[in-house]
Amino acid sequence: SIPVGRPDVLVVGGGIGGLSSAYALAHQGLRVRVLERAKEFGEVGAGLQIAPNCTRILAEYGLLEEARTLGVVPENMVMRDALDSRELTRLDLHDLERHYGHPYMVIHRSDLHGIFLRACRRAGVELLTDRTVVDYEHTDGGALIRLEDGSTEEAPLVVAADGLHSVARRKLVGDDVVSSDYVAYRAAVPIEQVRDNGIAEKDVTVHVGPRCHFVQYALRGGDMFNQVAVFESPKALAGRDDWGTPDELDATFERTCDTVRKGIPLMWRDRWWQMLDRDPIETWVHGRIALLGDAAHPPLQYMAQGAIMAIEDGWVLARHYARLAEAAPGGTRPDWDAALTAYEAVRVEHCRRVQTTARAWGELWHLDGDPRHRRNAIMRARDTYDYSFTDWVYGPTALTPDEEPEMFTPIPLSSAVVEDSEGEPLT
Ligand code: FAD
Repeated sequence: SIPVGRPDVLVVGGGIGGLSSAYALAHQGLRVRVLERAKEFGEVGAGLQIAPNCTRILAEYGLLEEARTLGVVPENMVMRDALDSRELTRLDLHDLERHYGHPYMVIHRSDLHGIFLRACRRAGVELLTDRTVVDYEHTDGGALIRLEDGSTEEAPLVVAADGLHSVARRKLVGDDVVSSDYVAYRAAVPIEQVRDNGIAEKDVTVHVGPRCHFVQYALRGGDMFNQVAVFESPKALAGRDDWGTPDELDATFERTCDTVRKGIPLMWRDRWWQMLDRDPIETWVHGRIALLGDAAHPPLQYMAQGAIMAIEDGWVLARHYARLAEAAPGGTRPDWDAALTAYEAVRVEHCRRVQTTARAWGELWHLDGDPRHRRNAIMRARDTYDYSFTDWVYGPTALTPDEEPEMFTPIPLSSAVVEDSEGEPLT
């Protein structure tokens, strides 16, 4: 289809970040056009964990019930040591739902993406595929994008939600991705294939081990089982380009407990994800071009907040637009610059905290030797119903810096008690 008329907002990228923000902005009465590079809208990969700071927004959008039908609300999130399989700590997800007022859920990526795609259609968002954006320019009162076929489009606001390898980020910021030397393997298989593996079907289980971890949870009403295996690649550390290959997967998980080891042969072996992020940056808004989602703040996935932060970004931007629209004199359009300033003022710092905490969690999860024992002792001492380490993330999304809660400061590993009064190691 050939687009007619000039939209109020152009969104580049139709991933979860692009579609959810297109929906949020269209809901404010704006004409929104999404340009997606792929031939069809869709998501690659398997499961996504969505915490209460996301389900709260889905509820506000009227999309939570659809998500509940397609996803699963697990009973617990349990962390175990990947070597000896001992429980380290847990969240009771029913109690967590009472605490935050909204559920912690798991859902197939394509299902969440589909929910936003249908919502965009209902809201009248123009959804265009096979459109690759190759350049951006500032114009008077807006921005212009150039497509691969040489055509251009203009709007008062361009939202660049084009992911980790964002063209907009390359042009406006010019920084590089940062490799963690870790790689992820994924698999979503029929639940029957794993029933004899000692799995906990109703829980999200994270097994943390030396230089590796393994995540498991049921999907699609419990019919499927999602597994993610993550490890540090020796070939990456040796500076080789072909890193993260299946032989490294098998070798890394050889020492782990039965439940983890039995899951490894089921991992998809034709595709793996090298774990990259970027250093946080302070400026996401350049004139009328705003970075959003992974284009602005790609995290390592250890806090399971990447897609959620993208959804929060769109919600915050639309809420600020709505606030300014209400205050604007009759018949006039509010000032995008003020909405963008407010967006940047609150989101940059929140996402910086999540990105840096995700890196720190990765280090904590992957400890070996004495530090591993110290970590285990600290985690075992945590009260299941103590939410101080999740409140700053799972609580309501802040609209202003004043609303942003204090960040949780972890107990230093050096203070962990790992010996009994006789000096015997506590295992
Ligand atoms: P993307 O999903 O990358 O979408 C970008 C879109 O832009 C794509 O559709 C792409 O085709 C399009 N595009 C790119 N370039 C162009 C161009 N030049 N022109 C037009 N279109 C373009 N997050 C969670 O919240 N919970 C989790 O449990 C979780 N688990 C994860 C597990 C793993 C192993 C990984 C790797 C990530 C995980 N994440 C999780 C993070 C999450 O997947 C990402 O943060 C999220 O998908 C980012 O969404 P996005 O829309 O910003 O970017």
